[in-house]
Amino acid sequence: MRVLVTGGAGFLGSHLCDRLIAQGAEVLCVDNFYTGTEANIGGLKATRSFRFLNHDITAPLHVDVDRIFNLACPASPIHYQRDPIQTTKTCVHGVINMLDLARQNGARILQASTSEVYGDPEVHPQAEQYWGRVNPIGPRSCYDEGKRCAETLFFDYFRQVKLDIKVMRIFNTYGPRMHPQDGRVVSNFIVQALQGKPITIYGSGKQTRSFCYVDDLIDGMVRFMETPHGLTGPINVGNPVESTMIELAERVLTIVGGSSRLVFEPLPQDDPRQRCPDISAAKAELGWSPKVALEDGLKETVAYFRSLLPTL
Ligand code: NAD
Ligand code: UDP
Repeated sequence: MRVLVTGGAGFLGSHLCDRLIAQGAEVLCVDNFYTGTEANIGGLKATRSFRFLNHDITAPLHVDVDRIFNLACPASPIHYQRDPIQTTKTCVHGVINMLDLARQNGARILQASTSEVYGDPEVHPQAEQYWGRVNPIGPRSCYDEGKRCAETLFFDYFRQVKLDIKVMRIFNTYGPRMHPQDGRVVSNFIVQALQGKPITIYGSGKQTRSFCYVDDLIDGMVRFMETPHGLTGPINVGNPVESTMIELAERVLTIVGGSSRLVFEPLPQDDPRQRCPDISAAKAELGWSPKVALEDGLKETVAYFRSLLPTL
C-alpha cells in the first residue's frame, strides 16, 4: 500500500506516519514545514519505506498512491490566524489538488476535518447531523469556513465523480510532539507549569473542551480509512470526557507540581463556549472509542515537554 500523508511532519501527521510504517505501508510524507518540524519525522528518515517531499499542497502534486490522508493545515488558532489567506488556500486550493490527485490515481482519500465546523455550538454534545454555528467573517473563519468548504468539496467529488472519500471530524487532540509554542491550551498549560510561570486562563475558564489522546485519535483515523467504499462520514472522533479550562489547569498542576498560579486573560473573539463530541457514529461504524484517560495522556505529554525543557 502506497500512502500519502500530507502534513506528515506535524503533530498528528508524524504519529500517523509512525503507525502506517509500523503496519507495513510505504509512506510518502508531504509537508512545507509551515508548523511541522524535521524533528517530528527524524526517527523515520532512515526507514526505507518512508520518503519525504517538501511541497506546499496549494500547488498541484503528481505522485502514484493508493491512499491519501489529508492533514496539511495549521491547526492552532495562533498559527492559522498568522496568514489567514494562506490558511484558506490550504483548505480550498490544497484540498482541490489532493482530491484531483485521488481522482487521477483512483485512490481513497481521508480529510482531517474538525469540530470547528460546529463553531460555537447551540447543540450539546455535537452530533454529525448538527450544521453548526460559525461566524463567516471573524478571525477564526479562515479555518472554520475553510474546513467547511473542504467538506463541501469532498462530498461534491463523491457525488459528482464517485470518489472514495472519508471525512473525519477531529475534536481537540493532545500528546507528545505538539508544538510547544502553538498556543494550544494543553501545551501552554504544561509548558507554563514546567517553567513555573503563571497559567493563562482565557475568559472565565468555564468554557469546555473534550481532550483526546493522540494514540486513540490515530486508531480512529486508520480504522476509518479501511472502512468500505461509501462509508463517507462525516464521523466525529474525539474523547467525550469534557473539562473546563480551570479543571484542566488544576489537573496539569497536580501532575507537574510546582507553584504556578492561575491568571485570567481576555477570551479571544468567537472562542467556542462548549465542545463535546457525540461519538455514537464512531462506535457504531468504526467500532472505535477512546481508551486513554486524560490523566494518563497528560502524564505522557508532560514527560515529553519535560524532555524538551532545556531547548525551550
Ligand atoms: P500541525 O500544525 O502540527 O500539523 C499540520 C501540518 O501541515 C504541519 O506539519 C504543517 O507544516 C503542514 N502544512 C500546513 N500547511 C501546509 C501546506 N499548504 N502544504 C503542505 N503542508 C502544510 O497540526 P495538527 O494538530 O497535527 O493537525 C493536523 C490536521 O488535523 C490539520 O488538518 C488540523 O486541521 C486537523 N485537526 C487537528 C486537531 C487537533 O486537535 N490537533 C483538531 C481538529 C482537526
Ligand atoms: N485557552 C486558555 N489558555 C491558553 C490557551 C487556550 O484558556 O493559554 C483556552 C481557549 O480560549 C479555548 C480553550 O482553551 O477556550 C482551547 O483552546 P485551544 O486553542 O487549545 O483550542 P480550540 O479553541 O481551537 O478548541
